[in-house]
Amino acid sequence: MDDYRLFDAGNVVLQSGITFRGAKLAYKTYGKLNADKSNVILYMTSFAAHHSDIDWMVGPGKALDTDKYFVTIPNLFGNGLSSSPSNATEPFSGSRWPNFTIFDNVAYGLIMHELERGDSGVRSFASVQGALVMYPVFAFGTEEQKRHYLPKMASGEIIGCFGLTEPDYGSNPSGMITRAIVQKDGSWVINGAKMWITNGSTAQVAIIWAKTGEDKSDKSIRGFIVPTDAPGFTAKDQKGKLSLRASDTSELVLQDVKVAATALLPKTGGIKSPLMCLTQARYGISWGAMGAAQACYEEALAYAGNRVMFGKAIGGFQLQQQRLAEMLTELVKGQLLCLHLGRLKDAGTFTPQQVSLAKRNNVSAAADIAREARRLLGANGILAEYASMRHMANLESVYTYEGTHDIHTLILGQAVTGLSAFE
Ligand SMILES: Cc1cc2nc3c(=O)[nH]c(=O)nc-3n(C[C@H](O)[C@H](O)[C@H](O)COP(=O)(O)OP(=O)(O)OC[C@H]3O[C@@H](n4cnc5c(N)ncnc54)[C@H](O)[C@@H]3O)c2cc1C
Repeated sequence: MDDYRLFDAGNVVLQSGITFRGAKLAYKTYGKLNADKSNVILYMTSFAAHHSDIDWMVGPGKALDTDKYFVTIPNLFGNGLSSSPSNATEPFSGSRWPNFTIFDNVAYGLIMHELERGDSGVRSFASVQGALVMYPVFAFGTEEQKRHYLPKMASGEIIGCFGLTEPDYGSNPSGMITRAIVQKDGSWVINGAKMWITNGSTAQVAIIWAKTGEDKSDKSIRGFIVPTDAPGFTAKDQKGKLSLRASDTSELVLQDVKVAATALLPKTGGIKSPLMCLTQARYGISWGAMGAAQACYEEALAYAGNRVMFGKAIGGFQLQQQRLAEMLTELVKGQLLCLHLGRLKDAGTFTPQQVSLAKRNNVSAAADIAREARRLLGANGILAEYASMRHMANLESVYTYEGTHDIHTLILGQAVTGLSAFE
C-alpha cells in the first residue's frame, strides 16, 4: 500500500512515483503476479515505448504483429482468470472467481496508466479485451461460457472485440439497426453492421449487440458471442487513420450470420448491459490518459533541460516553466482523481456519473498536456522520433470513443440538474 501513499504525501514528486514504481509495487503488495508476469508488464511498457518509430506506427503491415505482443497483454490483467479455475467444479463467481482485475482497481488502473504511457493503442487493446469482452462474458454469461472463454481470453488464446457502434448510431447506440432473430431450433440469425470496432479484424470472437425479435426498442438489446469465422461475418480495417495507428479499427458486417443458442449472453437485457461494460472501460481510460500525459510531460521536461536557445536551456525561461507547471498540475490532479475513483470502485460505491467526470476531465487534460509538450519541443515536436505528437493524435480518438467528451458533459449535466439534454 505504500506506493499509493505517494499520492497522499501530496508532493510534486508523486507524478513520477505513479509510474513503474507504483505499478511494480502494486503487484508486489498484492502478491498476485509472479516474477515472470511482472516482467511482462515491463516488457509491454518498454515494447510500447520503444516501438514508436515510424516503421511500427506507419509501416505497411499490421502495426501490432508479434505473437508475443498479443499473448502478453491479456495475461497481465487476466492473471486471476487463468489461474483461478483450478478446481473445475467450482462456479466462476463470487470471491473465488475474481473479476479481470484480480488486483484491486487501483492496481488495475496503474497498469492501464503504464500501457498508455507507451501508446493509447496498446491500452485500447487491453481495455477491449478485458473490460469490453471478458467483462460481459463474466457479468452476463453462463457458467459454460465463462469456463470456455475466460481462461482462453486471459491467456490471449482468444482475442475479442466489442461491436456496439454502427455507421448511423454512434453516440446513440440505442437506435442500433442490427437485429438477431431467434429460430425454431433456438439458434439465432444476426444481420447488421458495426463500425469503428477495435481489434475487429484480429479477433476470434466478437461481442455483438443486437435488437432481438420484433421489439425495436432498446429494451430488446442483447449481447451475443459471435465467432468471427462464422459464414456471413466479415471484418474490414478502417484505412487512413491519423490517430491510434497502432490499433486495428474495423467495420464488421453480419449477413445472415447463424449462431447457436449458446451464443446468447443470457443475462444481457437492454441498453444498460453494454453501458455497464463501457463504465468498466471508461474507468481504465481515465487512468490510461494520464499515462499518455505523463509520457508527454516527461519528454517536455527532459527537452527543456537540454535544448539551449538564447544561450541557456529553455527550461530556464519563465514561459516554459509556466508551461511545465501547468502540465504537471493537470497531470497530478488527473492522477489523484483516478486514484480516488479507484478507491471508490474498490469500496463498491462509485457511480457511472463519476466515471464520466473522470473520463471527460482526464482525456481532455491529457490532450492539452500532449499539445503543450509538442509545442515546447518546437519543430522537433512534430517528429515521430518524439512521442508527444503521437500521443496528441491518439488522444483525439480517446476523446471521441467510449462516449464523446460532449456526451459525458450531458451525462454530468443530467446528473446535477435532473434534466436530460440528450434529445
Ligand atoms: C479509434 C476508435 C475506436 C473505437 N472502438 C470502438 C469499439 O471497439 N467498439 C464500438 O462499439 N465503438 C468503437 N468506437 C466508436 C466510438 O464509440 C464512437 O465513434 C463514438 O461513440 C461517437 O460516435 P460517432 O463517431 O458516430 O459520432 P456522432 O455520434 O456522430 O457524434 C458527432 C458529434 O456530435 C456530437 N453529439 C452527438 N450527440 C450529441 C448530443 N445529443 N448533443 C450534443 N452533441 C452531440 C458528438 O459529441 C460529436 O462531437 C471507436 C471509435 C474510434 C475513433
